[in-house]
Amino acid sequence: MNDLAAVPVTLMRERVPTALPVLRERGQREVFCGLTSIVWLHRKMQDAFFLVVGSRTCAHLIQSAAGVMIFAEPRFGTAILTDRDLAGLADANEELDRICLTLLARRPDIGTLFLVGSCPSEVIKLDLAKAAERLNARLLPRVRVLNYSGSGIETTFTQGEDGALKALVPLLPASDAKQLLVVGCLADVVEDQLRRVFDALGIGSVAFLPARHARELPSIGAGTLVLPAQPFNGDTVRALAARGARQLSAPYPFGAEGTTAWLWAAATEFGIDRATFDRVTQPLADRAQRALSRYRTQLGGKRVFFMPDSQLELPLARFLHRELGMPLIEVGTPYLDRQMIAAELDLLPVDVQLSEGQDVERQLDRVRQAKPDLTVCGLGLANPLEAEGLATKWSIELLFTPIHGYDQAGDLAEIFARPLHRRALLASASEATCN
Ligand code: SF4
Repeated sequence: MNDLAAVPVTLMRERVPTALPVLRERGQREVFCGLTSIVWLHRKMQDAFFLVVGSRTCAHLIQSAAGVMIFAEPRFGTAILTDRDLAGLADANEELDRICLTLLARRPDIGTLFLVGSCPSEVIKLDLAKAAERLNARLLPRVRVLNYSGSGIETTFTQGEDGALKALVPLLPASDAKQLLVVGCLADVVEDQLRRVFDALGIGSVAFLPARHARELPSIGAGTLVLPAQPFNGDTVRALAARGARQLSAPYPFGAEGTTAWLWAAATEFGIDRATFDRVTQPLADRAQRALSRYRTQLGGKRVFFMPDSQLELPLARFLHRELGMPLIEVGTPYLDRQMIAAELDLLPVDVQLSEGQDVERQLDRVRQAKPDLTVCGLGLANPLEAEGLATKWSIELLFTPIHGYDQAGDLAEIFARPLHRRALLASASEATCN
């Protein structure tokens, strides 16, 4: 394992980029669709409602992924396309307008309504951009209607967030004032922690996209420095760049090292000197290192295989390898967006096998052959692999749990340690039974 304390951030950024070979596969894939992002987006944007225009399958997916909402007034729902809609026997546009107006009359707390496209709405070519335009003509300024696609034909699950955030970009007011814009959905607790660190560093002008209320839109312009907090929001970042903003390249804020490097990328742009930076961040980084230290013995040397799913795979592989000493067998990702991931590629070991896309059967063959200690994969693959005796971690949990920043470094390590711990307990229990 690398000695992280001995790797100053400045040196990490000076490393020569490595041209890591990538195995590209185009076959059957096992990845959730973009609708899944609604589960964490609706928790963040408290005045937004996500209306999926889809089938009963889409409704079941969202409800089972976010099942805890049965006790509350949910801020998502599905306008179900029936057989008559799908066969073109009913005017789906008329029906959709009626459902939206009924919903908004019942829920005056909704300030922004996202119409979310699905596979069925795309198949019948239901034009949700037109529907949003039509509804806006009736509803603005009280309610704003936006649309994006969460269809499994075009998106994997974290791309739903990218679609929703990109839909907000044209609405951002213009301003050339210097500011930092953190892009990516973060739990409120993480946002508060990061804001405190930026304040302590002296970076006062910081905005987050998405904000806690979809109506609170940050401004955008030539003075905006975009610091992505999630690697899967490439289209949003490019849309912000088209409006004059500049993207900062940094590793993502996972673990002590990633968080330090991420904060440093912003600090240097705001003229913060190294001594001030260290004074603010070192105690936090030290605390994160202490939280991580107990996981190094548990996880160090354990071989990990990432199946492509969340697009978080590369930053997390970097974290597990560099901060916890886990050898990487293969790191798969649905898409390798080099613009978003450049700083991470520089920090991966030169012999790592990267793969982009998926041919699931071939990849499963590689998993079986490698027999990893831990496989990070989607829900659909986890149970069969567990049944074959392999320990797995559901990648979706990494989106539902706060994992960014110094204070969450230990929790992030715990997510990967838990399946190994459980497997060890089961093994010792069955040994005890046999004896
Ligand atoms: S893959 Fe398509 S049909 Fe299935 S839940 Fe997602 S959007 Fe709906």
